[in-house]
Amino acid sequence: MAKIKKKIKTIKVDADKCNGCRSCEIICSSFHATPKYSLSNPARSRIQVIRHPIQDIWVPVFAGEYTPAECMGRDKYIINGKEYDECGFCRAVCPSRDLFKEPDSGLPLKCDMCEGEEKPLCVEWCLNDVLIFEEREEEVDEEEEQRLEDMEIGLEALADKYGLDKLKEALSRMTKD
Ligand code: SF4
Ligand code: SF4
Repeated sequence: MAKIKKKIKTIKVDADKCNGCRSCEIICSSFHATPKYSLSNPARSRIQVIRHPIQDIWVPVFAGEYTPAECMGRDKYIINGKEYDECGFCRAVCPSRDLFKEPDSGLPLKCDMCEGEEKPLCVEWCLNDVLIFEEREEEVDEEEEQRLEDMEIGLEALADKYGLDKLKEALSRMTKD
């Protein structure tokens, strides 16, 4: 099966260095405003800092995939004596919380690694070196990659035609059984 090279971008998070300054949230929401940089609203940011100052907990989390249903099991993490929320490290945009939802429309937000920029802006703006950007190439199956791209194009077309809300409803009904 034919292989192709795919660029994988990651942001490593050194959470213990975070002081909760929220510069990352400000620049992310500002970069994604329309027009760009016209306003800044951390509630619209695709990175959110989960914070419990008394317990010295600061966890920057990036918006991941939308999921129409809550998960059935939760994980509890205790690291260096600090107890983290059950959903603390989860990136999903799911019905169990308001995180990563556009405040006016409720539409899901997703980190796009600042598409078009050389480096993610939250990484550039974090002065404490909490966020570390890495890029590498991996060999992936060409057919599988094409299949995923086709699926995304299909879903985008459906969302354009029927609206994201209707598509979410349909997905939600399908996953109930
Ligand atoms: S900019 Fe860096 S230090 Fe500030 S909240 Fe974001 S991750 Fe934490
Ligand atoms: S990489 Fe870009 S889109 Fe993703 S959270 Fe950081 S600033 Fe926002």
